[in-house]
Amino acid sequence: MYICSRKKQPNTSSKMRVLLILTGGTISMVQEHKTGALCPASKEVFKAMVPELVSSSVEVDMIPFQPLIDSSDMNPDHWVKMAQTVADNYDRYDGFVILHGTDTMSYSASALSFMLTNLRKPVVLTGSQLPIGVLRSDARENLLTAIEIAAAKNEQGEAMVPEVCVYFEGRLFRGNRTTKMNSEQFEAFDSYNYPTLAKVGVHITYRENLIHRETTQMPLQTHLKIDRNVAVLKLFPGITPPVVQAILKTEGLRGVVLETFGSGNAPSYEWLYEALRDAVQRGLVIVNKTQCHTGTVAMGLYQVSLNLMKAGVLSGYDITTEALLTKMMVLMGEYSDTEEVKRLICTPLCGEMTVVN
Ligand code: ASP
Repeated sequence: MYICSRKKQPNTSSKMRVLLILTGGTISMVQEHKTGALCPASKEVFKAMVPELVSSSVEVDMIPFQPLIDSSDMNPDHWVKMAQTVADNYDRYDGFVILHGTDTMSYSASALSFMLTNLRKPVVLTGSQLPIGVLRSDARENLLTAIEIAAAKNEQGEAMVPEVCVYFEGRLFRGNRTTKMNSEQFEAFDSYNYPTLAKVGVHITYRENLIHRETTQMPLQTHLKIDRNVAVLKLFPGITPPVVQAILKTEGLRGVVLETFGSGNAPSYEWLYEALRDAVQRGLVIVNKTQCHTGTVAMGLYQVSLNLMKAGVLSGYDITTEALLTKMMVLMGEYSDTEEVKRLICTPLCGEMTVVN
């Protein structure tokens, strides 16, 4: 059965149940006949576009966001809404699929991975590069496979992928490892520093040794306070003191993602180290993230990064900017104690980074 309501119903069926949370994005759009412009499809139109939803062996319910949004308009309030919807419906479904625009999908997937702890069910984000109403659209395959993944169980009857993940164009990724890297090809996402969790062809081949599984028996916990007082400071050759100070001296700022060169290097300007040292002493958490997609920050490998370390900048290892920024926002929402935030920033919480010594 396919319903679009928030009415709570106990699961009396032996079918797997998946809740579809429709937030918007290209996947939910149809082309207006008169203007040719893309606009959100009504839930009835959406349902008519994917008749397999009704006949599927998985029971699918849907909760649409009101209104549906382009993911460029996503903000932390929307992450809270998604996390809360998963938590409110957690016991009644085997898994969750979030339909989301691709532009900021990696931010939402990363944020949700930190907001939902002790997760034992799949939360699969997917979307498409072409609207569902277009003949050559990638929407149908992405949606139907995401549902299958969200419903999949292993021989022990446990969820196959109890993580927040992104499914796109034949590949299943850990959500907090993804980056949108292509705005034209169907392969919109990549995970540069962690292998895919499953490959999808004729069969879905899960790579069980790479999938994160909670070891505690604790119930699902949500972390819904998000601190927006963070910023990204991207270094470039010729960067000037006023630009750096404009960011580091922003009122109320608590965390900075410092995007550096290569293995975590910065220009050896004395004024830069001093500005960073001063900011750290004022209580800012500054974390080094390389501008390279692949590879890790190795502070101390070169003199130019050793100085960052001396200034109190922390290593983000091989984390993505999306994951680091959202991890900061969630941790800072949860803890006012800067030392605790620093400790947890350097600790992998749900497979978002690999720490190397
Ligand atoms: N602008 C759209 C969005 O992110 C693009 C997409 O869905 O692919 O909502």
